[in-house]
Amino acid sequence: CQTLSPSYHSNEDQMSAQGHQTSASPVIVWFREDLRFSDHPALQAATATGHPLICVYVLDDETPALHALGGASRWWLHGALSDLRSTLSRHHGTLLTLKGSAEKLIPQLAKETDAQGVYWHHRLHQKEREQDEQIASALDKQGVSSEASWGTVLLDPKQVQTKEGRFYQVFTAFWKAFQSQDVPVPLDPPAHLSFHPLPDDLLSKYRLDETTLLPTHPDWAAGLRATWEPGEREAHEHLEDFLRHDCARYGKGRDEMGREGTSRLSPYLASGAISPRQVWEAIQKKGAHDEGARIFLSEIGWREFAKYTLFHQPRLPDVSLGQKFGKMPWRKSEQDLTAWQQGRTGVPVVDAGMRQLWKTGWMHNRARMIVGSFLTKHLLIDWRQGEAWFRDTLVDADWASNAMNWQWVAGTGIDASPFFRIFNPTRQGVKFDPDGDYIRQWVPELKKLSGKDLFEPWNAKEEDLERAGVTFGKTYPRPIVDLKEGRDRAMAAFRSL
Ligand code: FAD
Repeated sequence: CQTLSPSYHSNEDQMSAQGHQTSASPVIVWFREDLRFSDHPALQAATATGHPLICVYVLDDETPALHALGGASRWWLHGALSDLRSTLSRHHGTLLTLKGSAEKLIPQLAKETDAQGVYWHHRLHQKEREQDEQIASALDKQGVSSEASWGTVLLDPKQVQTKEGRFYQVFTAFWKAFQSQDVPVPLDPPAHLSFHPLPDDLLSKYRLDETTLLPTHPDWAAGLRATWEPGEREAHEHLEDFLRHDCARYGKGRDEMGREGTSRLSPYLASGAISPRQVWEAIQKKGAHDEGARIFLSEIGWREFAKYTLFHQPRLPDVSLGQKFGKMPWRKSEQDLTAWQQGRTGVPVVDAGMRQLWKTGWMHNRARMIVGSFLTKHLLIDWRQGEAWFRDTLVDADWASNAMNWQWVAGTGIDASPFFRIFNPTRQGVKFDPDGDYIRQWVPELKKLSGKDLFEPWNAKEEDLERAGVTFGKTYPRPIVDLKEGRDRAMAAFRSL
């Protein structure tokens, strides 16, 4: 695993010399979850027409069937849009950002600019596909062509099928079939660009005020700003850094919560600052047979499986896929849910994960599994409550990956993951944070505890608690659930189905 120079760095100077604005009839590139310049099939296809471009992004909060972006994703979007805009401006173009119903705004934009065609990437969920079909048909009625290509996944989800022509429901079988297919190589950025001039008053009443994407009262994003820099170049830097330092020992490193052993590419992949094909190719070039690289590719495979499942099973984000879980006696407890959200459950490793999420907009994958299992099993709270909280607070919130992983952790019917796999948070902490670095970083009020006491302070001796300055109910909460009782309650609920 070594460094890779991403292709998009290469012919940038050449392109800026060639970028210019022309007033011939334009074509529109509609950016969505693909906020990048390189390996962008829709941008390539539009450029190949030879017509000048209009680049647009629409923040559509008006279509209830589509998932609204959460707060952390909006913060990220602000940075991603400004990064894409500055890339386009280096090529003498710009990015138009609008707010409103895409169904209305895309045809209207085409009409007002007398555009010839609109280019975009396919989306996965049935509701998104239906919206795209409606827009394509409205454009068609106006005499405007539309063209969609695959730009956010490695393969068209219809391409991976069982011998009987069905879709796979279990990851291992899916992954085996997937690997027998060829993943297309990523595209270089377009070499010749021309842009259509945009009058200031164009759709002026629908212009997105991008500052509204940022939190103000209160400004909760300080931790996000300190942790992340959205952008295409930063995405490639993360990839290079990972290949250089962490890829070789990823097999072990990806589970160590106390150190940075993973790529942290997820928010860049979610916003499309880097494409999965670029990540795939980088790994292939550096030797996909290394143990670390092989495991990393299979994680990219899980991302693909999530998108694939969302495509074939649109109920994934809303309904437990295992039918019997429709009758699961989930508990409703605002108090427990709030304690979980705030990282005040009294179970140190769970609190560490939830506080990392709140502060940075990201949580280690192992911690996501631990806090997810704790919520749905020990607290017996519906996985959809956890999914909604993650959707609002994660910078990498992704409709498919979030829902699939929540159903996987909850054991409600995705893949072969059973409900009765209940993580013991103490044992998970000892195993994957053996020195307690992760807990000490995020739950500093416990940092003077040593050994097992750090993982289960409720079993610590009075004098050890006193020496470490821990007073239950004052400096740190008592556990909101007894782990054994919570586990037994979950198993009883499961058996009742
Ligand atoms: P790495 O370990 O470096 O992996 C590289 C890439 O592979 C990731 O960026 C991601 O795109 C993909 N990947 C890795 N693990 C998974 C996985 N289990 N499922 C799907 N893709 C994976 N990931 C999201 O991108 N968005 C979400 O909303 C999301 N919600 C999750 C909710 C729960 C309850 C759990 C258990 C996991 C969730 N994940 C989600 C998956 C995973 O936790 C993150 O992708 C990963 O932690 C991101 O960090 P990284 O980029 O350093 O990952």
